[in-house]
Amino acid sequence: MDKKLEGLISYWHRRGIVRDKKVLEAFREVRRELFVPSNLAEDAYSDVALPIGYGQTISQPSTVAAMTQALALKAGMRVLEIGTGSGYQAALLACIVGSRGRIFTTEIIPELVSLARKNLARAKIRNVHILQVDGSEGYAKEAPYDRIIFTAATPKVPLHLLPQLKDGGILLAPVGSIFGQHMIRVRKLAGGKREEENLGEYIFVPLRGKGGF
Ligand code: SAH
Repeated sequence: MDKKLEGLISYWHRRGIVRDKKVLEAFREVRRELFVPSNLAEDAYSDVALPIGYGQTISQPSTVAAMTQALALKAGMRVLEIGTGSGYQAALLACIVGSRGRIFTTEIIPELVSLARKNLARAKIRNVHILQVDGSEGYAKEAPYDRIIFTAATPKVPLHLLPQLKDGGILLAPVGSIFGQHMIRVRKLAGGKREEENLGEYIFVPLRGKGGF
């Protein structure tokens, strides 16, 4: 048992950041040190974002935890991620949806696609499909999804991806400027309706590509 990780988990529990047991279990199962540069492995369970090269970062554990919980995942779900980066968030999603579920994750920087492939293989995660594409338009080929998660900042709520989401599905994205965003959760309801919630302030690296900055 990693003391720093257990410290983080009990902090999330106390502060009500994460109550979902499946999310906490996934954090124990997927070792973050496999997804950070080896010279930073000691900092794997510090609650900070870390550089992964090419100007990109692996998000802070508390942010990843809050987002994963906000998705209300269930076994067997199909999830689309925009912004694979290190592959860590995708690995947690994969762990929670289980072997009957599928994670499709898009990454625009080819070197990070290779890095994520290597990291996921080392972590023995098999139900993640990494796609080297501009994910700002989603990935219509494998739609519809139960959940869509952006892990890069978007300039506006990406409602253009709602057609790729099932009724009852959740879209989660940090929306704002390149300097700061609000985490917006959109629930797609039956009959073309939707519900939007603001889950608080965050700072992400900017989304690139067609729908980016
Ligand atoms: N979820 C990642 C962290 C994401 S950092 C992890 O767990 O490590 C944001 C990532 O989004 C970066 O790797 C960046 O290259 C990628 N990105 C930016 N714009 C993109 C786009 N239009 N399509 C796909 N990926 C994009």
